[in-house]
Amino acid sequence: MREVLTNPVSGYYVHNDMLGAEGDFITSPEISQIFGELLGIWCVSEWMAAGKPKEFQLVEFGPGRGSLTSDVLRVLKQLKSVMGESAVSVHLVEVSPKLSEVQAQSLTGEDSQAADNENDPVYRRGTTNTGHPVYWYRGMEDVPRGFSIYLAHEFFDALPIHKFQKTDKGWREMLIDIDPQVANKLRFVLAPSATLASSTLLQADEEREHVEVCPEGGVLVQRLTNRISEDGGAALIADYGHAGDKTDTFRGFRGHKLHDVLVAPGTADLTADVDFRYLRRMTDERVLSFGPITQQQFLRNMGIDVRLQVLLRSCTDSSTRKQLVQGFDMMMNPEKMGERFKFFALVPHSRIAVQTRGKKAEQKGAAAPPVSGFSELGL
Ligand code: SAH
Repeated sequence: MREVLTNPVSGYYVHNDMLGAEGDFITSPEISQIFGELLGIWCVSEWMAAGKPKEFQLVEFGPGRGSLTSDVLRVLKQLKSVMGESAVSVHLVEVSPKLSEVQAQSLTGEDSQAADNENDPVYRRGTTNTGHPVYWYRGMEDVPRGFSIYLAHEFFDALPIHKFQKTDKGWREMLIDIDPQVANKLRFVLAPSATLASSTLLQADEEREHVEVCPEGGVLVQRLTNRISEDGGAALIADYGHAGDKTDTFRGFRGHKLHDVLVAPGTADLTADVDFRYLRRMTDERVLSFGPITQQQFLRNMGIDVRLQVLLRSCTDSSTRKQLVQGFDMMMNPEKMGERFKFFALVPHSRIAVQTRGKKAEQKGAAAPPVSGFSELGL
């Protein structure tokens, strides 16, 4: 999965702009500006809850075409009176040189430069249309320390998974092999004995018979946990996902249709649902986690209904109105993206402690106020 998606020579993400009507799949930030605007409000509200730190890093993982960050920055600009003199900077973690160019174009116009030295951890830098400095990195380790709001939309589902099957002899890893009978054909096989992955990655209390584990996702959450607990900030992870109950979710998409994951590798997107229970375990409770809740719930809690009404009121063009309503339906309808997509947040323990003190938590029965968009703690 890693090779197929991110191999520097032939990886699917490295060469393609796969998003949108012409591509292989479409995502919420591409469907409607409202999505990014509501996430922008979430960022500002977490920054305010942290006591409005002077330096504010907005970090996005896998920004695709840059639409989400662009919508978030527009919100920050509109809330200038709230943002005051805070120094906002933008940090993008993107493996694809091709997509980083698309992002640079959308966020900065012509105002960005690639690094002279290819070993520079900042491989591109520029200034956004809103006047904020923006930097591109290959991995999170290169993003500077400091108070940060992290966004990951449809990012964790692209990180490689291991697949395991329970057998009479114990857990066995599913591997991919060349079919000896048919030329140029790949097939799934079960490892005849335990592998390093099958003896280390499964939880002792696992009840499923078939399990997918994404250790890179786990490591990323551990890194986010370290940063958020030490430097402050918050992370919002939104993806196809479940609370540790699904089994076989590995699949491919090409031209908006399901595609056999083993056929023509590199020509289709590969994805596996995010196991939020596993991600939560990886925090080791060193930060608080909220969710997963459905996209429908999250966007509703963030005020999507009011935002749609406001936009419709100020819009007279009938095709734009139609687009707004259709986009709303696509994102909110449980039959479409409303339920399959989940939202999950990480915040430092201090986030709730500070708030409850202010609200006289010592009064018996005073519930801890939730993080914006979420009504209760996770799982
Ligand atoms: N967030 C965007 C794009 C989702 S597609 C949206 O919702 O529209 C996944 C994005 O993650 C792409 O930008 C892809 O190039 C990037 N990506 C995938 N694997 C990555 C990895 N291992 N490291 C960094 N970026 C990665």
